[in-house]
Amino acid sequence: MFSKILIANRGEIACRVMRTARRMGVATVAVYSEADAGALHVAMADEARLIGPPPARQSYLNAESIIAAAKETGAEAIHPGYGFLSENAEFAEACAAAGIVFIGPPPAAMRAMGSKAAAKALMQQAGVPVVPGYHGDDQDPAHLQQEAGKIGFPVLIKASGGGGGRGMRIVNGAAEFARALDGAKREAASSFGDDRVLIEKYLARPRHIEVQVFADAHGNVLHLHERDCSIQRRYQKIVEEAPAPGLKPKMRQAMGEAAVAAAKAVGYVGAGTVEFIVEKDRFYFMEMNTRLQVEHPVTEAVTGADLVEWQLRVAAGEKFTRTQGDIACSGHAIEARLYAENPDRGFLPATGTLHRLRLPTDVARVETGVREGDAVTPFYDPMIAKIIAWGPDRAAARTRLGHALAETGVLGVATNRGFLARVIGDADFAAAKLDTGFIERRRAALLPPPAPAPDAAIAAAALLCIGEPIVSVSDPWARRDGWRLNTPNAAQTLLFRDGEETRAVEAAAAGTFWVLRIGESRLTAAARFVPDGAATLTLDGAQSRAVVLDHGDDIAVFIDGAGWRLTRVDPLAPPAGSDPSAGHLSAPMPGRVVQLLVAPGDAVRQGQPLIVVEAMKMEHTIAAPRDGTVATVRYAVGDLVEEGTELIALAEAP
Ligand code: ADP
Repeated sequence: MFSKILIANRGEIACRVMRTARRMGVATVAVYSEADAGALHVAMADEARLIGPPPARQSYLNAESIIAAAKETGAEAIHPGYGFLSENAEFAEACAAAGIVFIGPPPAAMRAMGSKAAAKALMQQAGVPVVPGYHGDDQDPAHLQQEAGKIGFPVLIKASGGGGGRGMRIVNGAAEFARALDGAKREAASSFGDDRVLIEKYLARPRHIEVQVFADAHGNVLHLHERDCSIQRRYQKIVEEAPAPGLKPKMRQAMGEAAVAAAKAVGYVGAGTVEFIVEKDRFYFMEMNTRLQVEHPVTEAVTGADLVEWQLRVAAGEKFTRTQGDIACSGHAIEARLYAENPDRGFLPATGTLHRLRLPTDVARVETGVREGDAVTPFYDPMIAKIIAWGPDRAAARTRLGHALAETGVLGVATNRGFLARVIGDADFAAAKLDTGFIERRRAALLPPPAPAPDAAIAAAALLCIGEPIVSVSDPWARRDGWRLNTPNAAQTLLFRDGEETRAVEAAAAGTFWVLRIGESRLTAAARFVPDGAATLTLDGAQSRAVVLDHGDDIAVFIDGAGWRLTRVDPLAPPAGSDPSAGHLSAPMPGRVVQLLVAPGDAVRQGQPLIVVEAMKMEHTIAAPRDGTVATVRYAVGDLVEEGTELIALAEAP
């Protein structure tokens, strides 16, 4: 076994790899960018090396710096994690040339699977079923259009070198093809440095089921069963589970065998995932990811294997001692990915400081790379944590995950926590009616319009602000109950901003309780708060759990999986002005203008695309909110824009 390894990654996966390494007695070296000097993965490592400025290209993708750090620290092997350099064959070769073991598959296997198009051709030869489509070399737009017609609309355009759902476009008819191709190629070129695409038949309601494979360097290939990753937004997984519910034993076996055949066809070594798209009782090869996946913990939960340990052992040349029959699958596990993002704004990534962060480490397995006080920056992936629950069956795992999400709280950055809780609690999810269209189909239930905070949430915020009525019976100066000599206790009024509204709470002490008046209702209330955010609320005699976090005037209250963000309002402060950005077309996040579709004076219709901004490697099209005329265009293609800057102004409606 190695005595020291370097982890060429950041965030939760770097921490995850280090934990296993430490358990195995392997020393760890972290690398970090200037933005990550104070990051958890740096603190966790035995040694750390700065490798460059914040942009990934200059740090986590900087192969030279990383290899130099490994040499300098005497690391014998490099674990690439996922993303960044994990599927980069040149990097694997550079490691080998420097005498360092790359903990991953041989470069040839990475290359064979690196292009979705080439991989599909290879799989076809190996007898693995693939989705009908065109994956040839002729990239002439007219030719691609013709191929799309032959496949029959709807089709899906995919970046051949793609990943993470980037560079994908659904095309419903021939008329939309040219524009969609344009966008896909541009996104592909900027994300992967390769604008080649392939075209597939778009399946309407497929499931995404993938098989975890593992190969040692002695020709043994095993699979560790499958994961269902059908719950996706923007073609990216957010909830994954193992095993895939309702999969018939025969099909499960056939998929396992096909995955092993795929790995064998490319001389695979190490951890890999063969992704299939499944429609009714047919499955098709989509691609193979030649690395550890984000969602590997659900496989670990049902098989009892530590996949990072397996990776290290395989990379160190060890031979499997188990055979396929030894790989058990017990119980059920579900993972939810907690992201800094705005579900109600098209799941746009969010950035900011995690002023308060409470993760349910006592209820579920939590994988994270951040701590309270850390920032989510636009430089890297906005995932905050993965929460993984296991149970003897799916219902138990689901209940535990729901419970874990209810114990989770974040204040400072918008997250998908409430959205995840609604997914886990959804009746269709409970019934395992899973397909990649799930979120779209259940949109109304999963993304309800914002509603005013319930009285319980307002009460919790008020109680946090006013504390207990009597702190010490013996010390009259410690009374907070508005006690007056010979008159009833004075009531105090607190104001909270709740979305657009201001909510008033009138609080009067009654012994050890408060009597709260919130709008029309009157509640007898008491609460106990633990500094980590856990709270016990007693409202009119009924006791319940909550999570209440605060930072300055901001308070976040989480009850039963739902959450509300309130701001304490100082009644003496001047009234806030109206939102200056209302009605303007502004950049949703910091990014770069990649396409301008209108010019001043153009008449536009509501919903018409006006400008395309690339941010966090995704394109965001900004559309006209109403019919009108373009008055000003403030930026040109290539310009960098800050979040919230006005990009285009429409003339006043006549
Ligand atoms: P990426 O490498 O960008 O993640 P994949 O090829 O793995 O892209 O596809 C990502 C997701 O896109 C799949 O999980 C599935 O939801 C959807 N998808 C891919 N191919 C098809 C298809 N032919 N029809 C319908 N949906 C698809």
